[in-house]
Amino acid sequence: MRIAVVTGAGRGIGAATAARLASDGFAVAVVDLTEENGAETVAAITDKGGRALAVGADVSNEESVAAAFEKISSELGAPSVLVNNAGVLRDNLLFKMSVDDWDTVMSVHLRGAFLCSRAAQKFMVEQKYGRIVNLSSTSALGNRGQVNYSAAKAGLQGFTRTLAMELGPFGVTANAVAPGFIVTEMTAATAARVGVDFEEFQAARAAETPVRRVGYPEDIAHAISYLVSEGAGFVTGQVIYVSGGSRG
Ligand code: NAP
Repeated sequence: MRIAVVTGAGRGIGAATAARLASDGFAVAVVDLTEENGAETVAAITDKGGRALAVGADVSNEESVAAAFEKISSELGAPSVLVNNAGVLRDNLLFKMSVDDWDTVMSVHLRGAFLCSRAAQKFMVEQKYGRIVNLSSTSALGNRGQVNYSAAKAGLQGFTRTLAMELGPFGVTANAVAPGFIVTEMTAATAARVGVDFEEFQAARAAETPVRRVGYPEDIAHAISYLVSEGAGFVTGQVIYVSGGSRG
């Protein structure tokens, strides 16, 4: 049984991805800030007969990531799939953005993806097989109020292409999925911050999206499922926009 690691898998896109990969036949390490955060995702998987392990770790902390991969490899086995999904928002216009808000977003998205990929590649290179997927965003193309997040998500695209070059010779692919508007607690929090009812917020986003609907975590999980499949071994260094046709 192949082992997949999904970060930020306690809810939202990460939880849907963990569930999808479990139904695809992976044993899944459900990484989130605390083990308790991952409990619901793990229960949903094991209730359906799948295998999953909740792992508490802060992806932006080197020791925490090292301990998480130690636990995963000893309790589940050597991972061959990594989905760098953990993320946070600290939106503000540039002139109001604090250094803390800048650093937090850089740390979780970029440092987190770096630390987890560095830890995971060791197992993948040893197996001469691996799949890494990084969560970018349509915000990588620029989004008002997200100078930090947009820079981090664009950074992840360069990170992805470089991983593809370095790890390709070892049978490891690296790709990015760039979601558009997906209904999760993250976008619910954005609606709350700008003072718009979440249903109205979604309707407005659906109206401006070519396919005339918003996205759901399962839409992203589906693309990730393809990229981590064995058959996708010739696809690497790519950014797939899963956004209903919105920008990108
Ligand atoms: P979400 O609902 O906010 O879930 C993010 C998860 O990441 C949470 O469970 C959170 O834990 C966890 N997390 C945060 N910081 C962490 C850390 N340092 N270490 C480990 N886990 C951490 O977000 P989502 O909407 O599912 O988004 C998932 C990914 O897709 C993110 O990278 C996001 O930027 C990207 N994305 C989302 C959208 C969208 O429309 N939703 C669009 C484009 C890209 P806590 O609950 O403890 O905070």
